[in-house]
Amino acid sequence: MVPSMTSPYATVPLVSFDGAESIRGSLYSPDRYRNLESIFAGSEGRSFSVRGAGLSYANLSFGRGSSSIAMTQFNRFLDFDEVTGVVEVEAGMTLGTLRSGQFLGDGTLKSSRAILQLQSVVVWPQMFMVKNQFQDLNFKEQVQFVHLFHPVHGYIYCDRLTNPEVFNLTCGGFGLTGIVISVGIRLGRLMSSGVETETIEVEDIFQLPKMLRENSSKFDLLYSWHEFNTQNNWGHGFLKAGRQVEMKNDKANGDSCDLSALAKAKQLLSEQRGRHLPMSLLFSSSVWLMNLAYLKKELFNGKGQIQPLVEFLFPVLQKTVYFDLFGRPGFHETQVLIPFDKFEAVMTELRSGLKKFSTPVTLASCKLFTGRQELLRFIGEGIVLAMNFPRNDTSAKLLDWWDQVVIEAQGLPNLAKDSRLSAEVVKKCYPQYDLFLEQLHKWDPKRIFQTAFAVRLGL
Ligand SMILES: Cc1cc2nc3c(=O)[nH]c(=O)nc-3n(C[C@H](O)[C@H](O)[C@H](O)COP(=O)(O)OP(=O)(O)OC[C@H]3O[C@@H](n4cnc5c(N)ncnc54)[C@H](O)[C@@H]3O)c2cc1C
Repeated sequence: MVPSMTSPYATVPLVSFDGAESIRGSLYSPDRYRNLESIFAGSEGRSFSVRGAGLSYANLSFGRGSSSIAMTQFNRFLDFDEVTGVVEVEAGMTLGTLRSGQFLGDGTLKSSRAILQLQSVVVWPQMFMVKNQFQDLNFKEQVQFVHLFHPVHGYIYCDRLTNPEVFNLTCGGFGLTGIVISVGIRLGRLMSSGVETETIEVEDIFQLPKMLRENSSKFDLLYSWHEFNTQNNWGHGFLKAGRQVEMKNDKANGDSCDLSALAKAKQLLSEQRGRHLPMSLLFSSSVWLMNLAYLKKELFNGKGQIQPLVEFLFPVLQKTVYFDLFGRPGFHETQVLIPFDKFEAVMTELRSGLKKFSTPVTLASCKLFTGRQELLRFIGEGIVLAMNFPRNDTSAKLLDWWDQVVIEAQGLPNLAKDSRLSAEVVKKCYPQYDLFLEQLHKWDPKRIFQTAFAVRLGL
């Protein structure tokens, strides 16, 4: 039988995880190179978007009139260099699958040499990727090279020395430079997959910068959580700090817990989130009660708990029902980087803004950030504050007001998290917006890769 040259294709609902955008669109799911290439045959004038699991909060992987290409079937392990710790995998390989080695023996490996190499990946002591932005910087630092496909340029290898401009534009380029086929990622060695945790009370949010700084050198992992729904003791919360420890029977305990957390994440689908609930169940009173109970529980737990690393890094993976409670209307996430010297003034403004707009804050969490900001990458020096709200008119108005506070404070919003940000706001916050635009149009003058996100931001 002659194998089909066309890629599997369907018209499907495409929804952003935050519920902001929902369309019926074309989705290709190629499973081999010739299928991928055939999508572009005679495609003059059409536009495309690239998609992984489609779990970004904002509308990054689809758009009206743009055909999405899901790379989930390009999911093979390709190579591993035991000396440098660089693993090469295809773009559809999830970090969870790579971490667990679950694909061992599933027939996707190219050769017996690769199987041997893979076994050495799996036995590498508890390898993992970025665990702490403050110490390890962002994910781009772990990416060593990229194999990219673009219908005009063909297949291109790029790294920091070869085609550096394309490499730089592709990492944090929101899928607008072409299709990443495979990547080389530098892995780090972990002592164990267990974390000894400590919960430290934050009584006064204005003390947070000092507390984060003091504790950042004492712990491997650090974030904070806050209650923003009461005016009394506003911002009361805790620092969650973690230190890597050798766990007894580490392999058995740590890995089994890791896998259960990751298995839950695997089942997440943007199209399924909250679909049975026509409205949000997160009201001011229910959120306040939920947060109070959570705060009490965390403060009670105190010191010396041992937790699997994945659960510590992604506590929300254990509570994915949280996202369903927003119902079909969905939620807003805002994640902004606030310069250290502006933190106090921004918190004072935020407190009055939340009082004025009166909308429940279902999550508020901070962490330290460091690194040099470039192009449209969410990186820089300061404190990152993430907040969630049920999606409705009041929270949208609050966030329009919040944009101005962030601009005034020379803060940086995370573009991948907020479906609502306008080109005007992004231009004011990202000094290299014009440079990104110029480099992108130089690389792809026809702008073949287009998404709702790119259109909204004028890219
Ligand atoms: C429950 C939950 C918890 C989360 N927690 C965190 C968190 O703690 N920290 C955090 O940073 N994020 C978090 N996120 C967001 C998370 O970063 C994204 O959901 C996820 O990393 C995006 O991966 P994806 O495969 O779903 O990408 P998609 O949403 O499919 O795509 C993301 C972007 O990458 C591009 N892209 C995808 N594949 C390719 C390719 N092969 N070639 C070129 N471009 C491509 C797309 O065009 C798009 O612009 C969370 C999301 C969920 C649902």
